Amino acid sequence: MSRLCLILFGSPGSGKGTQAKFLRQTLEVAHISTGDMLRARVESGDSLGREVAGLMQAGSLVPDATVNRLVEDRIEQADCEHGFILDGYPRTVDQARLLKGLLESKQVNPLVVHLKVDYNVIVARLSGRRLCPTCGALYSVTSASPAAAEVCDYDGSKLMVREDDREEVVLERLRAYERQTAPVLDYFRGVGYPFLEIDGDGQPQAIAGQIAKFVEGREKIGNAKV
Ligand code: ADP
Repeated sequence: MSRLCLILFGSPGSGKGTQAKFLRQTLEVAHISTGDMLRARVESGDSLGREVAGLMQAGSLVPDATVNRLVEDRIEQADCEHGFILDGYPRTVDQARLLKGLLESKQVNPLVVHLKVDYNVIVARLSGRRLCPTCGALYSVTSASPAAAEVCDYDGSKLMVREDDREEVVLERLRAYERQTAPVLDYFRGVGYPFLEIDGDGQPQAIAGQIAKFVEGREKIGNAKV
């Protein structure tokens, strides 16, 4: 089987992280979230973390060179051998260009899934989002609430609001998406990557099922060509 690179694309709050968590199990590949990687560096307080903390707190993107380096190193790790899901990357046309070269050098053909969700739904989701600081599970105060209020179903940790889910930061993240990330869609179309557009305002497990079908279908076509 060829090495999978599944790019999950969509605005903040479109459900990329939730989908990646389902799909990494179904597809048995690694989950690469640049947001999670950057947050871990901020938490560790190393020099990269100190460099990007302010930008992240403000809802702005961190420099392309920084994220590109992280991703280049990450996909060399052993758990990416059979494939990986990119969640939150690429987020600018320059990142997409770098990724294209990188994948070509490894003879990996990416697939793109665009999770489309209405702007008002996104704003409501992000402002009601809660995160487990221990296992990373995501909850929503409206739709996917935990069994006991504000406590993680899996490990009992007290849930928190992510620093950049505060309302004014959410609006800046959505502006950054419109300005810098939305143009990446045209780039993907221009280079001809197989593309699935999907309504992200549905039951998460059903959406994951549709994405898995798309991936499995494309893999069959890919293998038949060899
Ligand atoms: P969301 O998609 O919900 O905004 P993420 O966890 O993907 O959340 O990203 C959080 C923050 O991390 C972003 O607002 C940005 O500051 C930074 N970040 C993550 N991925 C990238 C990237 N590919 N390029 C630049 N900045 C990024």
